[in-house]
Amino acid sequence: MYYQFRYCLVLLILALFSRESVNGQAQKALPSPKNIIIMIGDGVGYNHIVATDYYLGMGPQVHEKFPVRLAMAHYPAKAGEYDSAKPESNFLATGYNPAIAWKDTAYLKRDFTESAAAATALATGVKTYNNSIGMSVEHDTLVNLVQWAKAMGKSAGVVTTVGFSHATPAGFVAHNATRTNYAQIAAEMLFDSRCDVIMGCGDPMYDNDGKRLTGKWSKTKYVVDSVFWLKFLAGSGKMVSYDVKGEKKTVKDVDGDRIPDPWTIVRGLGDFQALQKGKTPKRVLGVPEIYETLQQSRTERNNESDNSLPYTTPFVSTVPTLREMVNGALNVLDNNPKGFFVMIEGGATDWASHSNQKGRLIEEMVDFYDAINQVVAWVEKNSNWNETLLIVTGDHETGLLWGEHPFVPLTDQGKGNLPVMNYYSGNHTNSLIPFYAKGSGSELYRNYADEYDSIRGPFIQNTEIAQLIHLLWIK
Ligand SMILES: [Zn+2]
Repeated sequence: MYYQFRYCLVLLILALFSRESVNGQAQKALPSPKNIIIMIGDGVGYNHIVATDYYLGMGPQVHEKFPVRLAMAHYPAKAGEYDSAKPESNFLATGYNPAIAWKDTAYLKRDFTESAAAATALATGVKTYNNSIGMSVEHDTLVNLVQWAKAMGKSAGVVTTVGFSHATPAGFVAHNATRTNYAQIAAEMLFDSRCDVIMGCGDPMYDNDGKRLTGKWSKTKYVVDSVFWLKFLAGSGKMVSYDVKGEKKTVKDVDGDRIPDPWTIVRGLGDFQALQKGKTPKRVLGVPEIYETLQQSRTERNNESDNSLPYTTPFVSTVPTLREMVNGALNVLDNNPKGFFVMIEGGATDWASHSNQKGRLIEEMVDFYDAINQVVAWVEKNSNWNETLLIVTGDHETGLLWGEHPFVPLTDQGKGNLPVMNYYSGNHTNSLIPFYAKGSGSELYRNYADEYDSIRGPFIQNTEIAQLIHLLWIK
């Protein structure tokens, strides 16, 4: 029923904003954003933001003052994996019931989405089963926003603080029945996608402290495999065809001239920093010299515990920040006069919450905030809010983060201190998460917020982000 209702809403919006009325009179046109930037804090719910704001002691941050502020539901189509033996069971819907959600933490802890299904919903506008990368419950291949953008002649990219072939970036670029098929997903991202920019970790030649490994490498699946990775690095900026696990693969053309465009690989901190200014290569794969995350997975030192303050263990100094990666990515993407789409993920906010690491959550949130500030500054300097749409949201909540008890607010302990806060889960939850939007078309999201939560207010579904973008990007 909700779906029928939404279709009516869409028709209503179309009728109100249709570019040309029947009698030819000019009417208010739907905006068509030149640039769309979606920033995802993985596992970031309301209290992850409250905790960070209390620690920083600077009041609400820039995204919290965006004109459109709604809540968002993110449950998957079905919580289990796709079951080919029982196709009918793949359609069992989960859901979010506000009346139960605020009474029963057990309810919030079941049937939650994981990041692949959430990213697929955000990127394609279709809810799916957990662990799906760009595939529907019927096992159809879904079209993602990167593909939409490329079909419109725009540039497109994904940037993350975790592995580039990990669930969230993969959900915006690739198609695979299962997120754990990393080697296949990495190969699809590098050879079958028309992405202009892909940035994220996963370099098997390094450990989680950024130390170059001389003996055995870390797991190589995030970059296909070791044989491929060495050849790929050697061919940076020039080679277009590679042997990928015995199959000859050629990179795609990104700018429509039918000539395959090789990847230029950016790895060192200095190279990431240099990418922020001046002329850029046409196509960039940015993989910092570290294994799983930029900072969150580094070895704990100085007696750091889960309750320690942020920065107890000094940062790895040889990798860029998310802000620096984003700056470089935007410098590549903005070369296209038709505009671009980019998904930017603070990925390790989720990892810190899975591990219930309070200090490291704050570190990752501050890194994400810095990137948001950078994007806002970029829009205001190089573009404007009439042509760019910026969305800041999450993909699900991780850790059931609350104060002294579940559903009790966090207590502010002042700037530079951890607030009184506790994790009540080591996994994802179904709790509603915040959605902030500003710029071209953002106000239209209010029309989609047709469900209501007594505490969080009107909320949208995660699928509606891409559904509105599809509408705005109809040519
Ligand atoms: Zn996630």
